[in-house]
Amino acid sequence: MHSTYFIMIDGLRPDAITIANCPNLKSFIAAGSSTMNARSVMPSITLPCHTSIFHSVPPTRHGITSNVWTPMARPLPGLIDVAAAAGKTTAAFHNWEPLRNINMPEALTLSFYKNTSYYQDGDDIVASEAARMIPVHKPNFAFIYLGTVDTWGHVFGWMSDEYIKQIEHVDTQLGIVLNALPDDAAVVIQADHGGHDRGHGTEMPEDMTIPWMVRAPGVKAGYTIQRAVSLLDTAPTLAHFLGLQPHHQWEGRMPEEMFE
Ligand SMILES: [Zn+2]
Repeated sequence: MHSTYFIMIDGLRPDAITIANCPNLKSFIAAGSSTMNARSVMPSITLPCHTSIFHSVPPTRHGITSNVWTPMARPLPGLIDVAAAAGKTTAAFHNWEPLRNINMPEALTLSFYKNTSYYQDGDDIVASEAARMIPVHKPNFAFIYLGTVDTWGHVFGWMSDEYIKQIEHVDTQLGIVLNALPDDAAVVIQADHGGHDRGHGTEMPEDMTIPWMVRAPGVKAGYTIQRAVSLLDTAPTLAHFLGLQPHHQWEGRMPEEMFE
């Protein structure tokens, strides 16, 4: 069992990691196992994707198909609910308010939200608050959501110079978060979807292909995961590091091949 952290960089395309000057992401990849070819879900939109990430079922199962929250068609517990039911302490740091619905009420021990995902430095406060509060409160699980890369894609276009520069800015913030975590932490970093032109939501590879990266004790360093990874696989993977059984209704699977 490890303290476990899940860091989301909204709208981060895997091919942008290659282009950008992002030393923290690159050293994270070198220190763990990853794939630059993981799959999002349809529709490749933020709230449906996050509901699928935390509940390990596709939108056809949970029923949330837009960024306007509705109750799940057939509710099931997500990662934060399962962790809380097992007595774990949980935290969320984010700058996009619909994410308040990725867990049931009373499942979070601690949360920080500020409506800053539309500002260039809007991830800085999320990163600094996570870096300040995690060492004090030592949650067993924390979700850290950085929303500005997606905003820059919508404003300037995916893969534009401005989008790449925003990734470089967020990489510095990522470094601040990673430096604040304990040495034996298990960390998953991923995107929810990619994008093309100034949007996303389609089944195009540019929208559907995401980076998926893990660094944790016992996980191979510098290893490229060979099997197909979906964002449904995130919750079972995080549950494993927390020492929890995946919920029986979850459909994803942890990629076992990443372990030494
Ligand atoms: Zn998104």
